[in-house]
Amino acid sequence: MTPQLPQRTCVGCRRVRSRPELVRLALGSHGQVTLDARNQLPGRGAYLCADGSDCLTQARRRRALTRSLRVGEDVINYEELSATLEALRQEVQPSPR
Ligand SMILES: [Zn+2]
Repeated sequence: MTPQLPQRTCVGCRRVRSRPELVRLALGSHGQVTLDARNQLPGRGAYLCADGSDCLTQARRRRALTRSLRVGEDVINYEELSATLEALRQEVQPSPR
């Protein structure tokens, strides 16, 4: 028997996936939205597909992060989040050789 993995909804594409397939976003120590790659940040979290390159864009369009995290758009740096997500993907999926 395999234990049921916790399910979360991606705030971008709204797909329900198991927790390891998603990355958590939460408020950092300076009150800005940051990628919580190690799941260490307390408080509210929002989830995005770890492998979905378009999920952040969709979340932005719908203002899903501001709703989930109850913050203003001004503390969300989408360019930075996008870059961090991209870096994370490179890390998770080593380039084939
Ligand atoms: Zn997604």
